[in-house]
Amino acid sequence: MSRPLLWIFLLFSTLSYGGPIVVIDPGHGGKWVAKKTDGSQKGNGSSWNNATAATFGILEKDLALDYSQAVAKAFAASPRAQKLGAKAILTRNSDTSLSSMGRAAVAVENTARVFLSIHFNGSSSHTAEGTRGYIVSKDHPHWEFMHFVNPYAERDRAFSDLVVKNVATALQPFGGDPSKAKTVGDSKGDGGHLKDGIRTLGFARQDTHLYQAVVMLLEVEFIDNPKVSNWLLGTKNRDKARQAVAAAIVTAICDHLENDTPPSAPRKAR
Ligand SMILES: [Zn+2]
Repeated sequence: MSRPLLWIFLLFSTLSYGGPIVVIDPGHGGKWVAKKTDGSQKGNGSSWNNATAATFGILEKDLALDYSQAVAKAFAASPRAQKLGAKAILTRNSDTSLSSMGRAAVAVENTARVFLSIHFNGSSSHTAEGTRGYIVSKDHPHWEFMHFVNPYAERDRAFSDLVVKNVATALQPFGGDPSKAKTVGDSKGDGGHLKDGIRTLGFARQDTHLYQAVVMLLEVEFIDNPKVSNWLLGTKNRDKARQAVAAAIVTAICDHLENDTPPSAPRKAR
């Protein structure tokens, strides 16, 4: 192609792009900041790393990036995604630290239709297992920290249920138990899991066009449980499990994009 023709082609390919944008957010990232506890680093809604695998010494932030890159790659190669004209964007592609607002901004700037943050869980007993989806609940009692409604909670929940079900089913051949998989909300009557990042996204969606997006945080599995860590991250399964999860997420996103009609206008929180 000659140079002027190439420029015209590039200009048109940019201008004419209108397919759905999917933002995949690899949780955490960057380095621990000296003299700050991990808790204080959460002030911006995002910490450098939370869970560490019980075996193999793998950090959540590195796994989140690996899995997110696998999802983006599988999405780009998916004939269904291509037919939809959909494109996946990562909030980070290296070991860097982003604030929760910085992550949300990527979705807002791109008028994303899907915002999916990928994490790996831990529990105080180190025995919990199962895939979890986290969403902002429909309503929060007045005594709770978050005093806004999520008018899109049912849509978020349906998407989260789909992702969680697909991921848990994909992990079953490796050792996962789909009966332990579930979606939980952040209000106390709805699971009560306080995920700073997902709340920040809930805030960011108010008064922005992020309302077009379904917003969820996925915890693939509890990597601090030695049993899970062994079947998920052992050399026998590690690559296969990641590929299976990536394919499961791509299927869920395509199902969603093919069936979802985004709300036509933002509704004000009360
Ligand atoms: Zn996390």
